[in-house]
Amino acid sequence: MKIAVLPGDGIGTEIVAEAVKVLNVLDLKFEMEPALVGGAAYEAHGHPLPDSTLKLAKESDAVLFGAVGDWKYDKLDRPLRPEQAILGLRKNLGLFANFRPAICYEQLVGASSLKPELIAGLDILIIRELTGDIYFGQPRGRRTAVDGHFPGAEEAFDTMRYSRPEIERIARVAFEAARKRSKRVTSVDKANVLETFQFWKDVVTEVHKDYPDVELDHMYVDNAAMQLVKAPKKFDVVVTGNMFGDILSDEAAMLTGSIGMLPSASLNSSNQGLYEPSHGSAPDIAGKGVANPLATILSAAMMLRFSLNQPEAADRIESAVKDVLASGLRTGDIWSEGTKRVGTREMGDAVIAAITKKTITG
Ligand code: NAD
Repeated sequence: MKIAVLPGDGIGTEIVAEAVKVLNVLDLKFEMEPALVGGAAYEAHGHPLPDSTLKLAKESDAVLFGAVGDWKYDKLDRPLRPEQAILGLRKNLGLFANFRPAICYEQLVGASSLKPELIAGLDILIIRELTGDIYFGQPRGRRTAVDGHFPGAEEAFDTMRYSRPEIERIARVAFEAARKRSKRVTSVDKANVLETFQFWKDVVTEVHKDYPDVELDHMYVDNAAMQLVKAPKKFDVVVTGNMFGDILSDEAAMLTGSIGMLPSASLNSSNQGLYEPSHGSAPDIAGKGVANPLATILSAAMMLRFSLNQPEAADRIESAVKDVLASGLRTGDIWSEGTKRVGTREMGDAVIAAITKKTITG
C-alpha cells in the first residue's frame, strides 16, 4: 500500500505530521512518501501542483492531504494559486465522489449552536458529486445580453449540466454507502425549477430500482437547508450535485460546532482517494502548535476504510479519538470550561496512547 503524503501549507504540516505518527503505530505495512503541494510547492518549483507531486499521487493508493493556501498568494495568477492544486488533483485522479460525514461527538454537544437535543448523536453523511454541474459546465463567460430584462447590458453566465452516467455513478456510491449504514438516502435537487435536477431526480429514481433494500426520498434543496438546522437527525445519507453539495456539506459540518473535527474523502471509481480535513490552512494559527489534528487523523481513518481496505484499523483510530475526548483533552477550538487545553502534538500523542493502550489491554 502506498500513500502520498501532501502536507501543504500553514497548519497542514503540523496536523499531517500527527496523522502520520498515528498511522505509524498501527503495525500495518505502508509506504508513505511525502511531496510538496500548494504554496510550498510554488515556492520550491514555481507551481502549486508540480509534475512530480501529481505523478506520486497517481501511482499511490491514497493521498493524505493537509491544507493549502495563504493570503500572501492571493495576488498570483489564478492557475498558480495554491488552491488550484486541489482542483488539479481532483481532475487528474477523477475524484468524483466527495464524502463528508458530520458526526457530533457526545462530549462536544455543547460546541454546536443548535440545542443539544437536536444535535446529540448526530451522524450523517453528505455525498457530493464533485466533477460536474454548474462549476464545470460550458459555455460560461461574459457577453452583451441579447435578450432578458436588459438587452445590450453586460452579463455573465454559467451552464448547469449533468449527464446520465455522472448521475448514475454518484447515485450508486450513495446507495452502496447507505447499505453500510441505516439504508436511507435523501437525494437533494431543485427539480421544481431546474431541468438538470428533474433529470437528476429521474436518474436517481431509476438507479434506486437496483437497491430495493435502501429507502429513497427526494427533497428540494431549499427545504434540505431548512431541515438540516431544524431536525438534522432525520437524515442519514444525503446525495446531491456539486453546487448544492458544496453549500449543504459546509452547513451540515458546522452543525457539529468545530471545523477542527471534520474529515473528508474524495474518491474515484477504483476507490483511490484523497483524504483531507474539511478546514483550510488556518494561517492565523500556523506555526503555533495549537491546531486541532483530529480532523486529519479522522481523515486517515477514512483512508484506511475506503481506499486501503483496513476497516479494523480505521475503527481503532476512531475509537481512540472518542477515548481522548472522553478523557477531557481539548485543543483550543473545542476547549470549554472544565476540560484540559492541549496543543497539536499532545493531542496526537494522546490518540497514539489510546490506540496502544487498547492494543495492550486487548
Ligand atoms: P480556515 O479553515 O483555514 O480557517 C477558518 C478558521 O478556523 C480560522 O480561525 C482557523 O484558525 C480555524 N481553524 C481551521 N482549522 C483549524 C484547526 N484544525 N484547529 C483549530 N482551528 C482551526 O479558512 P480560511 O481562514 O477561510 O482560509 C485560510 C486559507 O486556507 C486560505 O488561503 C484558503 O484559500 C485556504 N483553504 C484551503 C482549503 C483546503 O486546503 N482544502 C480549504 C479551505 C480554505
